[in-house]
Amino acid sequence: MDFDMLGLAPRLVAKLAEQGITDPTPIQSQAIPHAMNGRDVMGLAQTGSGKTAAFGLPMLDMLMKEGGKPSPKTARALILAPTRELAKQICDTLAAFSDGTHLKTVLVVGGAGITGQIRRLERGTAVLVATPGRLIDLMDRGAVKLNETRFLVLDEADQMLDLGFIHALRRIASSLPAERQTMLFSATMPKQMAELAETYLTDAVRVQVNAPGKPVEKIAQSVHFVAKAVKTDLLVELLDAHRDELALVFGRTKHGMEKLSRQLDNAGFSVTSIHGNKSQGQRDRAISDFRAGRVRVLVATDVAARGLDIPDVRHVYNYELPNVAENYVHRIGRTARAGAEGKAIAFCAPDEMSELRDIEKAMKAQIPVASGTPWEPVAGESKSRGRGGPRRGGKPGGGAPANTGRPQQQRRRRSPKQHAA
Ligand code: AMP
Repeated sequence: MDFDMLGLAPRLVAKLAEQGITDPTPIQSQAIPHAMNGRDVMGLAQTGSGKTAAFGLPMLDMLMKEGGKPSPKTARALILAPTRELAKQICDTLAAFSDGTHLKTVLVVGGAGITGQIRRLERGTAVLVATPGRLIDLMDRGAVKLNETRFLVLDEADQMLDLGFIHALRRIASSLPAERQTMLFSATMPKQMAELAETYLTDAVRVQVNAPGKPVEKIAQSVHFVAKAVKTDLLVELLDAHRDELALVFGRTKHGMEKLSRQLDNAGFSVTSIHGNKSQGQRDRAISDFRAGRVRVLVATDVAARGLDIPDVRHVYNYELPNVAENYVHRIGRTARAGAEGKAIAFCAPDEMSELRDIEKAMKAQIPVASGTPWEPVAGESKSRGRGGPRRGGKPGGGAPANTGRPQQQRRRRSPKQHAA
């Protein structure tokens, strides 16, 4: 099947071909025909599946067929995304698809000046891509009205819930005309999503490309059981083995990730970071430097990196495991995008065993062990002191405690029984 069989305007199909996009991905071939028939769609798909085009193409097709101009301060189509970075990426993708048409695309996100955004909305727009908080702000200022919005997309809806946007989303829902087409995309289906789907969707067709919570098969996953104190050494060692390839490193806290970024810089890597303490300009620059390969390592927290599409990322490190199991899937989904091969390497310290178990439960699969052995809580001792003792630097000649954290041949995880023996 190719794109013109999906009923899309020949102009759009030609634009796709110019970008080397000729065969629809599974989510595209499943979602686009329903969307072209005007149905609401609930798509279970991860980033990297091609979901931006899955909602973007039918939306642009509809907008291209519609005549007339949008009224002042209105948007004919609205796309909501959880993070500024994802919103910008969607906006860029749609602008590339609609290049050469009369359709205008406006991006409104927090962290950027609001005056310019108010101005760009004055004459109305065909497409508005927004993060929920800033959109509410603009609605409150009377800079935009949603009464003419007939096409709505909620992208990475699960992440919007995680980030506490539920109230903002409810408010936005109540400002939209009831008669509209809505598409909701999410990588996972937490319980709260049912409520969100009920608020937004009418008689939706459900399309799904991967079981929820199941990562792309092409990703080679592994875990190192390693003490916290030696994670940085191990990371340096592993990064050193592929200095020319792009690697993304995830951790939990802004401060921790900033510190790690400095340590990697001191170790001679070209590195940059994105997290909540960085200005929007710094975040944009970091991403464009990384995308262009000017820096090879990007250190990030979840919020900043959600949904980013950087096709050449080969290695994703979970320097610290996420508290929310589903975020693991999102993190590792940054690699092996659009059919490429990728590796996802997790570091698990003694106090992260429960996170690891949650992740494996969510994925219904065990992550192969690259080094060390699973930590077990030792009775009477604090949780942070697992068996095997911490790895000492992992340098040659540094001794080999049970849990060396050094990369070894992958082997099967031992069962707890064997381990205890
Ligand atoms: P997304 O899941 O929308 O973030 O898309 C992930 C990546 O896949 C982007 O780099 C797209 O340009 C690319 N892509 C989307 N659709 C296709 C397609 N049909 N064929 C090849 N690449 C695609």
